[in-house]
Amino acid sequence: MSIDYQALAVAGVQGLMPYQPGKPIEELARELGLEPASIIKLASNENPLGPSPVALAAARKALEEMCRYPDGNGFSLKAALASFLKVSPVQLTLGNGSNDVLEVIARCFAGPGDEIVFSRHGFAVYALAAKAIGATGVEVPALEWGHDLDAMAAAVTAKTRLVFVANPNNPTGTVHGQRAVRRFLEKVPARVLVVLDEAYCEYLEGNDDDVDGIALLKEFPNLIVSRTFSKAWGLAALRVGYGISSPEIADILNRVRQPFNVDTIAQAAATAVLADSDYLERSRQVNRDGLRQLEQGFEAQGLSWIPSAGNFIAVDVGDNAGAVYQGLLAKGVIVRPVAGYGMPRHLRVSVGLPEENARCLEALAAVLQDQGAARG
Ligand code: PMP
Repeated sequence: MSIDYQALAVAGVQGLMPYQPGKPIEELARELGLEPASIIKLASNENPLGPSPVALAAARKALEEMCRYPDGNGFSLKAALASFLKVSPVQLTLGNGSNDVLEVIARCFAGPGDEIVFSRHGFAVYALAAKAIGATGVEVPALEWGHDLDAMAAAVTAKTRLVFVANPNNPTGTVHGQRAVRRFLEKVPARVLVVLDEAYCEYLEGNDDDVDGIALLKEFPNLIVSRTFSKAWGLAALRVGYGISSPEIADILNRVRQPFNVDTIAQAAATAVLADSDYLERSRQVNRDGLRQLEQGFEAQGLSWIPSAGNFIAVDVGDNAGAVYQGLLAKGVIVRPVAGYGMPRHLRVSVGLPEENARCLEALAAVLQDQGAARG
């Protein structure tokens, strides 16, 4: 007798569509018979600078210890982070990427029958995390592509356990300032946890009203801030992120995370890179310049885009975005389609090095011209 294993999966998992990552360079190289070196990938919001030499040296050294389990408490990394962020180590929860932290939060605080609120065009993992644990995802309509914080506060019901706010948000790049976030937190009841996902906060420009979730923790004990080493710190492959919260919430999260969720090499590289302020500054500068370069290129092509506070930008390429994406792939340029985010006219372009941005813009112009000609 054959068994329907699909039917055995828990209800939330049965309908789950896995997260769609950016297409890897090696995969496109295999598919099109191209040299990997001829392909550029601006699809996963990675740091185009390559890793910090300081992080690389620390990771190489840590490889010598690969036969041993990692420090399950992440003592050195937490100490370095605590001093960098001016918080206490007991407020920290380390994760296998901040993605891990987001999922652990969902598992700790919500279950079947509970509601988790997030925004339309918001980061995809919130809906996935809700579904996987059998909670009900409540998607709130967006306002000018961004989170409508008033509507999100109003969407909180007696069943709501968690609200996810990506700030800046991926893939729209929209951001709310500190005053707007504080107003929002004042409206959310203290029994509802709010996760401020600040994966891209290092790219903020240093304005007075820039959001800083950590500064709000004292006022709002129901707040959890999540951050990552994957973007501005250039360690995406090593998978290191963290949550910052009250010690009480951190204690709960730390009970549920896997005991060795951040490996030795990742811990060493992350600890070391925090001292490389030069690298962080270069990351920010390359991003600032790259965003301007892409905006100017889009402008020259008569395309509109969503102003971005992240290391990526969503550009409106018309009603044939799927074909434009394919056309770019054929030219060895990988960007990210975002139709799955309810943005069928946009493509998300991660900021690359100047020559990568230029090549992307050139390929985009050629593909749009070909398509225009084909349509006559
Ligand atoms: N939050 C947001 C808004 C993101 O865009 C991403 C990465 N795509 C993450 C969290 C997770 O990143 P990581 O797991 O690499 O920290």
